[in-house]
Formats: sequence, structure tokens, C-alpha cells
Amino acid sequence: MRPLNYLRPTDVQEAVKTIFVTPDAKILGGGTNLVDLIRSDIEHPDTVIDVTSLPLNEVTELPTGNIRIGALVRNSHLAAHPLVRTRYPMLTQAILMGASGQLRNMATVGGNLLQRTRCHYFYDTTMPCNKREPGTGCAARTGFTRNHAILGTSPHCMATHASDMCVALTALDATVEVESTRGPRRIPMSEFHVTPGSTPQLESTLAEDELITAVELPPLPVAANSRYRKVRDRSSYAFALVSVAAALRVESGRVAEVRLALGGVGTRPWRALKAEETLKQGPATEEAFRTAAEAELADAITQPDNEFKLELTRRTVVATLRTLIPPAEHLS
Ligand code: SF4
Repeated sequence: MRPLNYLRPTDVQEAVKTIFVTPDAKILGGGTNLVDLIRSDIEHPDTVIDVTSLPLNEVTELPTGNIRIGALVRNSHLAAHPLVRTRYPMLTQAILMGASGQLRNMATVGGNLLQRTRCHYFYDTTMPCNKREPGTGCAARTGFTRNHAILGTSPHCMATHASDMCVALTALDATVEVESTRGPRRIPMSEFHVTPGSTPQLESTLAEDELITAVELPPLPVAANSRYRKVRDRSSYAFALVSVAAALRVESGRVAEVRLALGGVGTRPWRALKAEETLKQGPATEEAFRTAAEAELADAITQPDNEFKLELTRRTVVATLRTLIPPAEHLS
């Protein structure tokens, strides 16, 4: 057992000053991922900074119509919030399809954004892993890759991003608010997570001295007609093989507005911009949905174990969008 220093700031300014003067510390929210990582000797901080006393646990509607979600709002509270359930149903569904009830009661929004991959080689400290120990190699390259990514991979890492919530936040164009001793900063969700490239140990654009304080959702009428669909090996408490977050508006049989993001297939929550572009103003048909999925997957790199994700992604995109076509607009 290793000793750990434990600090517990009570306001945001005290917290960012503490983070600034304790550069190798880890920030503790719900602890549902970090505690496992420390116990498994994957993370080995000398200090944890417990931020759960900070006043960041409210969901509020701003005068702009944006919804501001404090970084310490628990996942189950966010999923059940009436504003989220009615305006962004895909977000409620994504959260409820992640983890278990007990974990969702503990896990925070900020922690969910920063959760690490569930690549089994990352958690096995006897195996080489560039993400855990840069420069040691990637055991997955010659190993079992059924759960690994097909989009955004590099020769150095092909681990999927594990979060369901982040897939929905990506489709919804959320913004992450962060604070440091240098002041506040806003990071678009599309720029928050990064693909591995040659530095898979770096997973986000959050600086070492920054604290996530909130996530903001824009007012987005199309999101009221949205859905999150998750395909996994068992019906609960499993990570996605493929997931789709989609919002759709159809007018006169054509796609007037669409938002699409994928989980389980990308090294980061994957906004399917090529698929969206292919769909815009085209017919709202299953054939068009499949063509759009093909466009998004054109650059996919598969392994023999995860090649099945190509067809599973096409089918899940079609199945998700199909449910969002209003009955009067069905062409096929
Ligand atoms: Fe490590 Fe990434 Fe390779 Fe998994 S895929 S073993 S996380 S480098």
C-alpha cells in the first residue's frame, strides 16, 4: 500500500490554486474510475484533490436558453433532470445505458469526461501499453481486438473511448467550461478529446492545471427528437460495441437537420460529420441512411476481430435514424 496525501478545497479558486501548486496530483470526483486505476497501480499520484465539496452540482437554465450542468452533477441526477429528459432525450438515454445504477449515482459529469479507456491491455500491467507507459508498445496490435476502435486509430493505440454520455454531448455540440489560475476557458466538445496519434497517453486538451467546472448545452430544438442506441454483448453493465446518438428533423420527406455521433468505434467520441453532410437535404430513407454510414466509415481501419463493427455500425445508424422519422414522413 502506498501513502496518499488528501486535500479537500471548498471553493473553485482555492481548488485551482491547490491544483497549480500540486502538479502531480489527481482530481477526485465520484472516484468510480480513478480509485480503480490507483488500486491497479495504473495511476500512482502522491496526492488526490477531492473536489466534491465545490458548489458545482446544479443544473440551471441560463437566460440564453443554454443549459449549464455543474461538473459535480451525478450522472443519475442529470439523466433524470426534466430539462434533459424533454429537450435532449438522447443524453438521458446515453447516461442510463452506461455503467450500473450504483456507479451512475456516484459518477460525476466532469469525471465521465475524463474516464480512461477500458482496453484490457491498459489494465494489465504485465502487458506493453503505449497509453499506460509511453514507448512500450501496444499489446492489442497482436492481441484480441473485438472491443477496439476502427476510427481515429494510430499504429500506437487503437483503444476506444468508453463513455456513452460523451457521445451524446458530442452530437449536441456541448461546451466544456474549465478554470485555472489563468482564468476560465471554454472548450468545444469536438475539441476536448483527441485521437491517439503518436501520444496516446494524452486524451484531452485539458491542461494539467485546469479544473472542469461545467458543461453547457446549446438550445437545440432538433434534439427533442433524438435517440441513443447502444449495441453490446449483454443488455446492461457493458461497454458499447457500437452506439449511435442521433437527432433528426424531416420535412417533406427530406432531411432538414441531422446530428449524428458514434460510440464504441472511435478512439474518441466520434462526431459523424461526413455522414451528416451526406444526409443533408437528401431523402429520409433507409437507403440514404446506409449510404451516409458508408461515407463515415470510408476511412475505418479494422482488425480481423473487429471487422464486424463495420456492418454493425451501418445497421445501427439506419435503425436509430429510422425511429426518428415522424410517421407522416416515412418514404420507405
Ligand atoms: Fe494500450 Fe492503446 Fe494498445 Fe490498448 S490499444 S494496449 S490502451 S496502446
